Amino acid sequence: MLEIIPLVLGPVATNAYLVGDPQTQTAVVIDPAWDGELILAEAQRRAWRIEQVWLTHAHFDHIGGLAALVKGILPPPPIALHPADFSLYSIQGGALLFGMKIDPAPEPTIRLKAGQNLTLSNRTFVVRHCPGHTPGHVVFYCAAEKVMFCGDVIFWGSIGRTDLPGGNYDTLIQSIRTHILTLPEDTRLLSGHGGETTVGWEKRENPFLS
Ligand SMILES: [Zn+2]
Ligand SMILES: [Zn+2]
Repeated sequence: MLEIIPLVLGPVATNAYLVGDPQTQTAVVIDPAWDGELILAEAQRRAWRIEQVWLTHAHFDHIGGLAALVKGILPPPPIALHPADFSLYSIQGGALLFGMKIDPAPEPTIRLKAGQNLTLSNRTFVVRHCPGHTPGHVVFYCAAEKVMFCGDVIFWGSIGRTDLPGGNYDTLIQSIRTHILTLPEDTRLLSGHGGETTVGWEKRENPFLS
């Protein structure tokens, strides 16, 4: 059974997730949004070793804490990102566009692709490619834990914005219908911003999907 520690961080209140197995004391960080030292301290408090960093996409508010986080870990954990977001990553996630500045982090060495399996402890997470918010946006689905980390694809009662470079509304809706609404209704959706929701609730109540 995995433990999920949500941390709301940074200038646009982004959800970073520290996900760990208390038994094996291994963990991953999904979207180290901001304040890398703080995320690291949460792991150290539990004596968890951060093995990998998984990025849903490369927007600055999801990677702002990445440089400080990996600097504090030896050896530094590999970073996983879909290659279609590499160019966004190389310009610090578009931080300048928002008048922000973040520290550049090491290159991602795990090139995510659709259908790929990621592992934490004895759990498998399947990578699903969900473009529309950014071209290389992915979500991480763990069937055994009935949970999906869905970044900025879908939010409680809303969907990701598509007006930023690389965004596309029709593509986003298609991604949601194909990769999220097809999951069991009791699947928890843990988004990049705001509170958690479920597939069933969004199917019935999300005004963008009716
Ligand atoms: Zn985003
Ligand atoms: Zn975001």
